[in-house]
Amino acid sequence: MTTPQLPTFADVQSAADRLQGIAHRTPVLTSSTLNQQLGAEVFFKCENLQRIGAFKFRGAYNALSRLTPEQRRRGVVAFSSGNHAQAVALSGRLLDTPITVVMPADAPQIKQNATRGYGATVVLYDRLREDRQVVADALIQEKGLTLVPPFDHPHVIAGQGTAAKELLEDTGPLDMLFCPLGGGGLLAGTLLSVEALSPDCAAYGVEPLAGNDGQRSMETGSIVSIAPPTSIADGALSLALGQLTFPILQRVARGVLTVTDEELVQVMRWFGERMKLIVEPTGCLGAAGMLQNPDLVRGKRVGVILSGGNIDLSRYGELLAG
Ligand SMILES: *Cc1c(COP(=O)(O)O)cnc(C)c1O
Repeated sequence: MTTPQLPTFADVQSAADRLQGIAHRTPVLTSSTLNQQLGAEVFFKCENLQRIGAFKFRGAYNALSRLTPEQRRRGVVAFSSGNHAQAVALSGRLLDTPITVVMPADAPQIKQNATRGYGATVVLYDRLREDRQVVADALIQEKGLTLVPPFDHPHVIAGQGTAAKELLEDTGPLDMLFCPLGGGGLLAGTLLSVEALSPDCAAYGVEPLAGNDGQRSMETGSIVSIAPPTSIADGALSLALGQLTFPILQRVARGVLTVTDEELVQVMRWFGERMKLIVEPTGCLGAAGMLQNPDLVRGKRVGVILSGGNIDLSRYGELLAG
């Protein structure tokens, strides 16, 4: 097997140039109450306020912007029912690229509609009887579409890294950083920025306890695959880290922490009540990991990535009502 070419901080910098004026430079917010409670200085990077409501716009737009004119003309396919689908769909509209999104037929209507709303074609498949990879492969073969995967792609990783680059530019070097972890695109990109801009910073990935493949992979030193987990953190239910994301995590991450769904709901409530921010359960992972470790963060300057805010308000209410 050949060693894949890993993205570098130079790739994050060039992604930042491409995203300039197109992605929002999202705000970095603080809470003096929280800082007093923890005896720390905590900076929240608010990607719930990014276009499409999550950081995934950064990676998708960067990846699409690098396709050749011919690839763009033929179009792009993505499979996802979540934030990546909307990110690719909006990027396609901005870059005049036809987008096809392969989604399970039982994906929430609201997500199908949001994706169609950005002008994408939605192809539904039967989750129990068909393999989405096979459905996507057929489209790639027949129509010459290019696949943009949700995390294991150098331009996707580089794009995701621009959020932490902005954070560190705003705050200066940090002692610690907590970042949600699914397949590792966001964390790997974040680590490239940390390595370049704040090399002494201890950076942690945080994943749902039910889907702790990342933690197990870091402990065993090779990529561990798991069966589909059940958690309210629906953006972090990937079954394995990627071939590109894992080596970057191994090189730079200080560790991977896990949190329960109950902890995520508590944090989601805190963001709503105290910060007036709607953060989806997956977006709460980093903050939940930090709050679990008050001794670790005391006296420190700490960054937390709030990765997204997309949740049905009725579902949000249900979760908070417990
Ligand atoms: C996709 C997603 C994640 C996880 O990102 P990975 O790059 O797969 O690790 C975290 N939070 C939100 C809101 C997401 O949409």
